[in-house]
Amino acid sequence: MDVTFSFNNTYSRLPDRFFARVDPTPVSNPSLIAVNHELAELLQLDLQWLSSREGVDVLAGNRVPDGAEPIAAAYAGHQFGHPVPQLGDGRAVLIGETVDRNGVRRDIQLKGSGRTPFSRGGDGRAALGPVIREYLVSEAMAALGIPTTRALAAVATGDRVVRERSLPGAVLTRVASSHIRVGTFQYFAFRRDVDGLRTLADYVIARHYPSAAEAETPYRVLLDAVVARQADLVAKWLLVGFIHGVMNTDNMSISGETIDYGPCAFLDAYDPATVFSAIDQLGRYAYGNQPRVAQWNLTRLAEALVPLLAEDTEVAIAAAQEVLAAFAPRFEAAFHAGLRRKLGLSSERDGDVALGQDLLDLMRDNQADYTLTLRHLGTAASDPTGDEGVRNLFVDPTAYDRWSQRWRGRLAEDPHTVGERRVAMDLVNPKFIPRNHQIEAVIEAAVERGDLSPFAELRSVLSSPYDEQPQFEGYAAPPSEQQRVLQTFCGT
Ligand code: AMP
Ligand code: MG
Ligand code: MG
Repeated sequence: MDVTFSFNNTYSRLPDRFFARVDPTPVSNPSLIAVNHELAELLQLDLQWLSSREGVDVLAGNRVPDGAEPIAAAYAGHQFGHPVPQLGDGRAVLIGETVDRNGVRRDIQLKGSGRTPFSRGGDGRAALGPVIREYLVSEAMAALGIPTTRALAAVATGDRVVRERSLPGAVLTRVASSHIRVGTFQYFAFRRDVDGLRTLADYVIARHYPSAAEAETPYRVLLDAVVARQADLVAKWLLVGFIHGVMNTDNMSISGETIDYGPCAFLDAYDPATVFSAIDQLGRYAYGNQPRVAQWNLTRLAEALVPLLAEDTEVAIAAAQEVLAAFAPRFEAAFHAGLRRKLGLSSERDGDVALGQDLLDLMRDNQADYTLTLRHLGTAASDPTGDEGVRNLFVDPTAYDRWSQRWRGRLAEDPHTVGERRVAMDLVNPKFIPRNHQIEAVIEAAVERGDLSPFAELRSVLSSPYDEQPQFEGYAAPPSEQQRVLQTFCGT
């Protein structure tokens, strides 16, 4: 157990133009809002130290610990389709890297830690609400088994931040297997800095895709590996009803983790056109568009990598196109395999995809809750008369009945026993997701009344999303008409 972080930094040893050295800006009166015990353990951190005066000062940015080398990383990106040659960490600093219990290198970043050379007009700060949202949703994603950045801690700053109104400020300690983005590659590509590009690519291969180093064409293998991870990631998002909300290329991690929880949200009623983000007027980042957007972003990555893929540009472009063509079949294979598991099918037959798609279409037509429909299918699968829970979620329950006959016919041909099937379904169909109306209620309690107990309770429920937790039944419920949240706002 280390008393404080034991840093082992690599990114800050890259050439100077990769980042700006900048310390976090101290805050007035830091106090701990939440600390993640499980993650602290993974990072081999002493919980008592983390919660101590000294630990909280580090988490707030008021004290730079030994071995830290704080930097704000440079990156670029396409935002809503438009190239922006310079973005960068405008309100975050990477304080250092540490190697976790499993030998995985992790970035420790303070988000909301003050202005940096990349802040442009921004204040470099974060409000309490978005910090709570990111903490809840990123940890829920981790518990759901989806690659993601994590939340180690949240502290209140004691300072106000001015948004549409004055709000309490907070700092989130974000942990990631790295903070390198598609936009980091674009930063060098936009500058035609091929040396920088190659240095970054070599660094990413060493850190995230070491087997590519052995390949004859390491950069092509790198692109291929990133494409594969993103295809898997977006399939996982869709399977739990996650909507990222701002899939700009600067918000797409090169390691394949979900990153940047701004106006993200989960589906309640199933509808692929669902958009929550207030800044996404055109629905570019709607739930059902996410696979296409991921491919679009990966195409921007491939463009950035062209100078490394072959000496001849034509050859490089052809190679990039070949690699990109693998995205759609990879995504579909991952999504369809996941959907089969959600329906309780342990084998694969012709017609399974259509069976799954037909259920999704019926859910859309009947405004059925996505999470509960699939969860209750587990009950239906283990009891021939157990359909009530699912049917009641459909505006027209007889539409479900017709589908259910086909489904039961198919289940009868599947090798799993009823008991095996129930267990398998409950492991892939969560009961608890971070629903918007619950997040909003938790934020309101914290911001308006200084009451952090709803935050703690929701965190605890979401840490076991596949368990029944009968004492927390209320958290499984979809929003009532009055509770329904129509828009989410960017985490600024
Ligand atoms: P995001 O929408 O969170 O992905 O952020 C896009 C860009 O805006 C990034 O370069 C951020 O660092 C920057 N940014 C967002 N909020 C702030 C803020 N409050 N102060 C300074 N920069 C910010
Ligand atoms: Mg940033
Ligand atoms: Mg971002």
